[in-house]
Amino acid sequence: MAFDPDHVRPEFPILSRRIGDRPLVYLDSAASAQKPEAVIGAMSDLMRNSYANVHRGLHTLANETTELYENARKKVAGFIGAAESEIVFTRGATEALNLVAAGLGRSLSAGDEVLLTEMEHHANIVPWHFLRERLGVVLRFVPLLPDGALDMEALERLITPRTRVVSVVHMSNVLGTVNPVRRIADLAHAAGAVMVVDACQSVVHAPLDVHEIGADFVAFSGHKLYGPTGIGVLWGRAERLDALPPWQGGGEMIDRVDFDQITYAEPPLRFEAGTPPIVEAVGLGAAVDWLSGLDRLAVAEHEAALYSRAAEGLSGVNGIRILGQAEGKGAVLSFTVEGAHAHDIAQLLDRYGVAVRAGTHCAEPLMRRLGVSSSVRASFGLYNTTQEVDAFLEALDRTRTFFS
Ligand code: PMP
Repeated sequence: MAFDPDHVRPEFPILSRRIGDRPLVYLDSAASAQKPEAVIGAMSDLMRNSYANVHRGLHTLANETTELYENARKKVAGFIGAAESEIVFTRGATEALNLVAAGLGRSLSAGDEVLLTEMEHHANIVPWHFLRERLGVVLRFVPLLPDGALDMEALERLITPRTRVVSVVHMSNVLGTVNPVRRIADLAHAAGAVMVVDACQSVVHAPLDVHEIGADFVAFSGHKLYGPTGIGVLWGRAERLDALPPWQGGGEMIDRVDFDQITYAEPPLRFEAGTPPIVEAVGLGAAVDWLSGLDRLAVAEHEAALYSRAAEGLSGVNGIRILGQAEGKGAVLSFTVEGAHAHDIAQLLDRYGVAVRAGTHCAEPLMRRLGVSSSVRASFGLYNTTQEVDAFLEALDRTRTFFS
C-alpha cells in the first residue's frame, strides 16, 4: 500500500510550525531530520523517571537506565542485521569514521593506500588526511561519471595490492548517488583491503543490512534517522572490531588499570570511553523502533516520488543545473541557479517558509570537481508531501523571477 505522509505528520510537533505567515516546508532532512513524539517522549521519560549513569551503579535507577541503554543497542543491532556486541555508540558518524580511521591507521605505514571517492563528505576524507599527514599514507579518489555515478572501471584499476582500506559513501549527500557498495566490498576484500561504508544518508531511506552490503565497518548518525543529535553508530564486523585498538581512553573501556599496565574491555565497551550519550542512545533506539513500524519500502517509494516530482519541476528550467542524475539516486536534489548565489536562493525560499540547505555540503572536493562553488539542496523525508514539493517549486519560481 502507498505510504501516506499525512498519517505520520501529526506525530512530528514541529511540522505544525509557521515561518512568518507561511506553513513550514522542511526540505532539509539530509542535514538533520525532525523528530517524532516517540523519540521526544522516550528521551523525556528517561530523564523524568529512570535517569542515572549506566553500567557502574548498583541502585535501581542505574540498573533501569543501563537496561534502557543496552536495549537501545539491541534495537539498533536488529535494525541493521547486526549483533549487539558489534554496535559501538559514538557521538555521530563523524566520530565513528574518526574512530575507525585512527584504529586502522595503527597498522598502516607510508605508501599504504586508502581508496576514497570524489563524492565523499569531509567526515570520510579528513580522518584519512590525518593518516596521510602523520604516516605518509597515500589517498586515492575514484572519479565520477558525468551523471554522478561512480566510475567503476576506474575503481577496479585503483584497487591494487597497495590498497589497505576502501572507504565509500553509500549514498551521496550532494548527488544522491547510491553506490554499489556490495560490489566494491567484494573488490576490496579480493585485494585484502578493509571496507568501510559511510551509511549516513542511505540508512535513512532504505532498509540496510550490514552483512548484505559486505562491509567491515559501517558508520551513521542518529539525527538524520529521526533520532536525536549527539549519537551515532559504528558497526564493526566482530573480528574486525576485536582487532581494532582502543581510541579514546577513560572509564568503562578498560578491563584493568594499574600504575604500570592496562588491559582493555572487549568491544563494544572498549570504544565507549567515559559516560556515553545515554539519553541520546535511548532516543535513537526509539527512532529505529518507530521506523521499523512503518512499511519502509513504501516510504522509499514515497520519497522517490517526491524527488521525481521536484526534479521534473526543475528540469528544462533555464539556468537550473541539477547535480547528480545517476540511475536509482536517493531523495536529495542539489542544484545551481545561474546568476544567483545558492545562499541568496535559500534565504529567499525561507521567506516562503521553505527550508533548504545551501553551500558546499561538507563536500568541497566534490564541488570543485563539479565546477561549482556552492549549490542549493532540497532533501526529502518521509513526512514531506507532494503539496510541499509544489510549494517549493512555486517559491523557487518566484525567487528566480527576483533575480531575472
Ligand atoms: N557523511 C555523510 C554522507 C553525511 O551526509 C554526513 C552529515 N551531513 C556525515 C557523514 C557526517 O555526519 P555527522 O555530522 O552527523 O557526524
